[in-house]
Amino acid sequence: MMAALLLRRDKKSTAAHLKSDLNRTDNSSGVRQLQELLDSVLNPEKPPADTEALDWCKCLIAGEEGFEEFCKTVRSYDNATLCGLVWTANFVAYRCRTCGISPCMSLCAECFNNGDHTGHDFNMFRSQAGGACDCGDSNVMRETGFCRRHRLRTGENVPSVPRDLLLMSEMVLPRFIICIIQYLRDGYTEPDTSAERDLQKVLQQLEPQITFLEELTKMGGAMRTVLTKILTNQQTFKDLSMGQEENVFAKKNYENYLSALKNSGLVSVEEKAQTGAAEPTRGSETGALGLLGAAAPSSSESNKEEDQDGQSIGQRKRVKLSSSTKDPSIMDSLKHKCFLEELLFWTIKYEFPQKMVTFLLNMLPDQDYKITFTKTFVQHYAFIMKTLMKSQESDTMSNRIVHISVQLFSNEDLARHVTEECQLLDIMVTVLLYMMESCLIKSELQDEENSRHVVVNCSEALLKNNTYWPLVSDFINILSHQSVAKKFLEDHSLLMLWMSFVSFFQGMNLNKRELSEHVEFESQTYYAAFAAELEACAQPMWGLLTHCKVKETQEYTKTVVRYCLETLQIWFDAIGFVDELAPNQVTFHLPLHRYYAMFLSKAVKCQGLDLESLLPDQEMLMRIMVHPLQIQASLSEIHSNMWVRNGLQIKGQAMTYVQSHFCNSMIDPDIFLLQVCASRLDPDYFISSVFERFKVVDLLTMASVHQNTALDGEQERPMLEGALTFLVILSSLRIHLGMADDEILRAEMVSQLCMNDRTHSSLLDLIPENPNPKSGIVPGSCSFEEMLSAVADFKAPVFELGGSMQQGMYTPKAEVWEKEFDPIMVILRTVYRRDVQSAMDRYSAFLKQSGMHTTGNPWPPYKERTPLHPCYKGLDRLLHCKTLHIVIFTLLYKIWLDHSNMSEHVLCMVLYLIELGLDNQVEEDKGDEEPCIEEHCHDSWFPGTNLLSNLHHVINYVRVRVPETAPEVKREREPPASTSAEASNFGQNSRRLTGNWRENVREAQVFSLVAERRRKFQEIINRSSTEASQAVRPKSSSTRWVPPGTPPQLVTEILEIHESMLSLLIKLHQKLSAKQNSLSATWLEDMDANPNRHAHGDGITAIERILTKAATRSHQSKRSIQEICGKVFPPVAPKKNSPTAKKTMDKEERRQRARERQQKLLAEFASRQKSFMETAMDVESPDTEAAMDLGASEVKESEVLYDCVICGQSGPSTEDRPTGLVVLLQASSVLGHRCKSDEAKKLPTTDEERIYPVDTCGAAHDVRLALMQSFFKDSSCLQSVSIGWDGGVYVQTCGHTLHIDCHKSYMESLRNDQVMQGFSVDKGEFTCPLCRQFANSVLPCRPGRSTEVVSWHMPSNKKTSVLVKEVEDLQEQLGFFPTESNLSKEMELVIKDIKNTTQRKYMDYGKNPGSPDNDFLFMYSVARTNLELELVHRGGNLCSGGASGAAKRSCLNQLFHVLAMHMRLYSIDSAYNPWTRLTQVAPSRDNCLDDERPEVPMLFRDCPSLLIIFVLTMPQPLRKEHFICLVRMLYNLQYTQALAALSAKFSLEERQAWSTSGTLKKNAFNAEKSYEALLSHVITELSKVKTVYDVNTDEPSMLSSSVWSPQSIEYSLQQFCLPYLRLSCLLQHHLYGDNLSGCPEEEEFSGLAGCLGLLDPAPQPSNPMYSASCLDWTVSAFDLMSQWCSEVTGLADTQAEKSMTLLVQDLQWASPHLLHLPDNYNTIFQYYHKKACTACKKVPKDPALCLVCGTFVCLKGLCCKQHGICECVWHSQHCGAATGIFLLINASVIIIIRGHRFCLWGSVYLDAHGEEDRDLRRGKPLFLCVERYRVLEQQWVSHTFDHINKRWGPHYNGL
Ligand SMILES: [Zn+2]
Ligand SMILES: [Zn+2]
Ligand SMILES: [Zn+2]
Ligand SMILES: [Zn+2]
Ligand SMILES: [Zn+2]
Ligand SMILES: [Zn+2]
Ligand SMILES: [Zn+2]
Ligand SMILES: [Zn+2]
Repeated sequence: MMAALLLRRDKKSTAAHLKSDLNRTDNSSGVRQLQELLDSVLNPEKPPADTEALDWCKCLIAGEEGFEEFCKTVRSYDNATLCGLVWTANFVAYRCRTCGISPCMSLCAECFNNGDHTGHDFNMFRSQAGGACDCGDSNVMRETGFCRRHRLRTGENVPSVPRDLLLMSEMVLPRFIICIIQYLRDGYTEPDTSAERDLQKVLQQLEPQITFLEELTKMGGAMRTVLTKILTNQQTFKDLSMGQEENVFAKKNYENYLSALKNSGLVSVEEKAQTGAAEPTRGSETGALGLLGAAAPSSSESNKEEDQDGQSIGQRKRVKLSSSTKDPSIMDSLKHKCFLEELLFWTIKYEFPQKMVTFLLNMLPDQDYKITFTKTFVQHYAFIMKTLMKSQESDTMSNRIVHISVQLFSNEDLARHVTEECQLLDIMVTVLLYMMESCLIKSELQDEENSRHVVVNCSEALLKNNTYWPLVSDFINILSHQSVAKKFLEDHSLLMLWMSFVSFFQGMNLNKRELSEHVEFESQTYYAAFAAELEACAQPMWGLLTHCKVKETQEYTKTVVRYCLETLQIWFDAIGFVDELAPNQVTFHLPLHRYYAMFLSKAVKCQGLDLESLLPDQEMLMRIMVHPLQIQASLSEIHSNMWVRNGLQIKGQAMTYVQSHFCNSMIDPDIFLLQVCASRLDPDYFISSVFERFKVVDLLTMASVHQNTALDGEQERPMLEGALTFLVILSSLRIHLGMADDEILRAEMVSQLCMNDRTHSSLLDLIPENPNPKSGIVPGSCSFEEMLSAVADFKAPVFELGGSMQQGMYTPKAEVWEKEFDPIMVILRTVYRRDVQSAMDRYSAFLKQSGMHTTGNPWPPYKERTPLHPCYKGLDRLLHCKTLHIVIFTLLYKIWLDHSNMSEHVLCMVLYLIELGLDNQVEEDKGDEEPCIEEHCHDSWFPGTNLLSNLHHVINYVRVRVPETAPEVKREREPPASTSAEASNFGQNSRRLTGNWRENVREAQVFSLVAERRRKFQEIINRSSTEASQAVRPKSSSTRWVPPGTPPQLVTEILEIHESMLSLLIKLHQKLSAKQNSLSATWLEDMDANPNRHAHGDGITAIERILTKAATRSHQSKRSIQEICGKVFPPVAPKKNSPTAKKTMDKEERRQRARERQQKLLAEFASRQKSFMETAMDVESPDTEAAMDLGASEVKESEVLYDCVICGQSGPSTEDRPTGLVVLLQASSVLGHRCKSDEAKKLPTTDEERIYPVDTCGAAHDVRLALMQSFFKDSSCLQSVSIGWDGGVYVQTCGHTLHIDCHKSYMESLRNDQVMQGFSVDKGEFTCPLCRQFANSVLPCRPGRSTEVVSWHMPSNKKTSVLVKEVEDLQEQLGFFPTESNLSKEMELVIKDIKNTTQRKYMDYGKNPGSPDNDFLFMYSVARTNLELELVHRGGNLCSGGASGAAKRSCLNQLFHVLAMHMRLYSIDSAYNPWTRLTQVAPSRDNCLDDERPEVPMLFRDCPSLLIIFVLTMPQPLRKEHFICLVRMLYNLQYTQALAALSAKFSLEERQAWSTSGTLKKNAFNAEKSYEALLSHVITELSKVKTVYDVNTDEPSMLSSSVWSPQSIEYSLQQFCLPYLRLSCLLQHHLYGDNLSGCPEEEEFSGLAGCLGLLDPAPQPSNPMYSASCLDWTVSAFDLMSQWCSEVTGLADTQAEKSMTLLVQDLQWASPHLLHLPDNYNTIFQYYHKKACTACKKVPKDPALCLVCGTFVCLKGLCCKQHGICECVWHSQHCGAATGIFLLINASVIIIIRGHRFCLWGSVYLDAHGEEDRDLRRGKPLFLCVERYRVLEQQWVSHTFDHINKRWGPHYNGL
């Protein structure tokens, strides 16, 4: 009842009252009152949506001050030294590798920008799983990287918190939290119990409460301390969690909680103890975690247990290994002792709601909390993973889990702490095992029936969806801490457990070769398998290896190696492997092998361990080599198309296996392991195994014919090449056999660069991570960057004209090509076969260019190898074994004889092996070698094993087994009919052989590698007594070599050879050089003189190099070579032997040649295309054909002929069949965006900066027109200005012409061809049939024309006054309407097109929309727009000149014609014809007495516009004399306007002074051409009404500060008239084809005036005042001027006030610019990526920025969509008349919008390596590429976006 009383009172005063009660010494009554109040307020039975309870809590906590105020106060006591800012997905954060201790370190933008990271290796990134700022945490990052704020250890300066501030919080919050917990308990239902389970709904209702908790955490350290105390207090939890006895709800609620615990498969400890389960309790103070420590069984025991389990469950498809877990209690015990634990429990149950996660993470800066929370998290770890596995939304949940765990486990202290106290490692490994056990299946490897091995099933969701990654990433994270890794490596039972985990992946995703039919569906499980091995096995392995780098950690390595071998042994037993591999199977997954290999490598390389001590016996080694070797053979099979029936995915596997992210963890360890085996096993055995695995043993016979049952004919050659290449790799690769880390990095880099030029980022991606991490500095080794600059040159990004943008590239240095190019390394690292060819092509190009080898194709260069580490010396024995020498001998022999299936590649590899052998001699230890010789059946081939001595050993006879049908046999049976010399030779030899073969039998040997291998294998097995029984089993494979039922029986034949390897080499030299005796007897001596000439070259060079090496190393070889060379060989070139064999031999070469030819053709085609494009694009091209040369006066023909690019015919354009120009019409606002200042406007990057659009050309013209329209007659206004500054229509052409009817059928065909994309035919769009330029209309050409040219140019001697009259008469002529014809129809059509090009609002400026006045204005403005744009393109003036030829590419002449035709429809009312007012002094017409507004005074009219109006409305063609007359008369007006404007700039005194001085000259000679007299007159006239100049007095006197001199006056007048002169001149140029003569900029005025005939071409040096001398008056200048001035002064007062504004206009505009961008992209990004849109007030998801005007828009946002058009497109229509250039803030990329299409243009920001970073994926600093930006601007100004070579697509208004 007390509570009820309190409830009724005001919350604030209640709070104050309670607080004071509680502060008393006896606070019992206060406590009671509060409890009662809370009992009724915080009632969990009330719906949580009722926020009354929340309001009460806020008030109680805050006390008498408001909650806001309270927050502020608490915050002032914040003592946190960490930032701890928590963010969720998509937040932009930073990572600095230089400052980070943990690789997971991250910083918020504020902390990053306030810290000093200059020169550091940092990047920006978009958070995927969410994270928190580590600033201030010295466990995670170095203190040097802390920001200013968190470096300051603020904690020390903060006063301690007053006791009573947080008193209420301490009392209220526990109740508040238990209330939340009760809601959570109440709302939870198990997934399977209820159909309408809606956890989201529960969470939604709780949102305000949880948000409140989050708010509390943001109040800083003081509040967090209070919260921590509450959350971790066990007593409070005990008191509150069960609720009061009598409360039924609380009881039920608690039971709900217990059942949730139970239903999760988790039992509370108490209950478990009651049911009698034995609990090994240790360290009960840690609660449930104490249960984990059960002593692990000794390793051998656990082995056996596991084996038996595997056996018993091996039968089932999906198996469960429940007892393999180390301690079952890890998986199912939980007990909660405080709020935090239960809160986390519910957080997990509710699958990590974001708000809860953020709350829990926000608390982390509190150290006590962090420790407790980490422990709690670990305690729940197993439960978390169980929940994850069951979750429907495992992706979201994974992210949230990692969001938390990264914060906890990145901290080494904390990780070590929980490892020691809570057995984190045991938990993790156990949970991993538990997880994988859920998806095990029986392995089908080897013995499908009896296998006892189990593997993970890669098609299970757990693997396919990567559900295990949070767990694995946590595991890798904690293993990165040395102290934790040590714990792991010291714990043998953990290691055993781990190895059994790894063995789950051993042999997974088994491939079986399909032999008959193609697989029905291609399984895509392989990627899951590769990902699983890499993430779950390899990554932890690399983590562990980083801690096994020094001698001190030898023991760890030894242990791991021991357990690896044990587990491998178990595995071999489980799969039932003895010595023979089941056929046609391969698995790429051998993680156990790879663990063993990598620890072995580290042991030898870094820890100085003796290899011998870590190796198993020979038999085990033989077994270990089998599976990795099978992978190598299978790779070759896959590339030889033997696995095609398994689908494309098998190639995917082969490629993934060698790919840069996998090679370190897969192929490299495999090759290394094989190298270890090869170095220890018998080399003969090893070599024979290789050839057997590659199935090419049959091929290694010296007979001309052989059978091969294992391979199809076309597979033999590639398989043989594969086997030899593998042997070369095996014996030459040194990655783990002696190369230092720097050397490896260098070799990797060189091989990647040799394949292709690479960008920095792709190179970074292609270089394997191990042993050198790609970034970060490893002490004592070269950094990536240093190494890169040592081997590569940087090629800066070049911009190609076509619009394709290149990136900065790295290319190998010349000396790298010369000395370091290693084809073997390239082969090892190529994913795509074409990359090998690419490397070779680039190598040959280099040799050609440097002149080192110019003829033919060079062979891969031989490269000397890093010396072998002594431990692996045995590897060289591979090169010095008889078996290999026999193979080499056989192959040399077969190549020489052109046997089938031999290739250049085979020879190349054979030579490589010989050379490797010569360079890597083994010390002969005779004692070991000699006794064996007698045992081997092929001993008689070679006397010893040394290659050097075997080289010159002559083999006389060889016994071969051949089919009866073989040529050898046939010849023997029937004496040959002497067909050819060789044949008879051979026959004789054979016959001689058969006679005495018995004598030679001991020399001839059957060469069967398989028999040999098997015999030796058995021998070794026999030696080991244990396996004796197995070894004697019958040989299953012996039948393989004599297939039953094959018709031709094998017979034994003996061949006479009489060759040594040396002699064969010399013969091959002759064969390759196609010369007999190519090596003279003395060539060896010549060789010594120049030992270096052999480094690069072809096969001949290689043979010479080998012979030289043999000769220098052995006298016997030298003698032998000299002897052979000395012999004169019979003139038999063996290659003539069989033309078919020759074919196969040269196949490769011919293919190469064909490719070269094709490439040459393509290159030629491309260059032709390019040169065409260049001439087509080049505006100033001087020598294009004369077809378009309309203006050239030299053309005497009567008619101009046009080529139609469609039908190819040439002819004139006629009324009936008109020809047209291919044109592109587009609306443009480029002119309107010009400003006064030549400097581009700066893009704002702070709130203070802003862009004002009012000073642009477009805005200024709008204002002027509006001003006029408010005073003057509308129709008159519309003739006094031009429009089209914004949204004007620009017409451009590629210069190609076509018949208009041809064009129509062309469009029809395009319409039917739906494949054509990128433009829309319905809108009239097409590409020029010839040059493929984008176009959308055809501009008809006027017929005839050239006949008039002459008359047009006739010099005119008429007086000006006559001409003026003639012009007047012409204007009076009625409009001549052409008769209706095809031409006139087309002309009207193109006018329609022009109107449709721009928007309505850019055409209707008049007061009556749709009136002819509007149309009139629009039409002549089209001409104006095109002339003005041409001026802009010419750089703003005409100083650069240009021949008449330049007019060709322009269509202005044709455009004028079409416009003029259209304009004839209008006639100017003669009463208002400005010509009269321009040329006559008429009595002032006072007929404007009616209410009509006055006409625009002449002084306000725009002269260029008038000129265009006159030209277009007069009868065509207009004679040049009349044109000049127009120009002259208008110049008078323009000059008067200039005087008026100038006079306005004067101060009052100056005006008076100039007025007076001028009056004196009025009567002088030539006064009408004296600026002083005229100026004075204008001043006088305008001064007649005060108001005109009065307006000016308000203006700041700044203008008058300059003193006007005659020079400055002349300059000012010229500047004012220049725009008019330029336009007139340009017009004259287009109409009459006059040349534009170039001139220096300061002489532009006189130049143009001369060109127009206003001024005598020879300038008068006596009078530099040109501007006045250009005047030409037909009536009294003073009278005319008076008349013009009176028009102004006669205006009503209000109008006159604005007169000055209209008089003083600045006609000069700077060239258009895009906004000036900051150099560093970050400046833009930081300001704009979180800026709110001004329209929708939200931060857009995809913000974009208009680079023309700086407007910020929501790209694609529905928020700002209007009329179905998204904001970006909308803006492009209004800002650029449908052209938009936008910078996408989050991608750093620019998109162009053009009409209904758009394209990605690329980026103008590049990183330090000249690369774009689209979508900011790498997050490296980006800088403005000025060249690119200039190109962008230039494309905008020149309207060439449509022509750049980009992928255009429709945007459907959705951008
Ligand atoms: Zn921060
Ligand atoms: Zn900071
Ligand atoms: Zn840094
Ligand atoms: Zn045609
Ligand atoms: Zn064209
Ligand atoms: Zn804009
Ligand atoms: Zn917007
Ligand atoms: Zn918006």
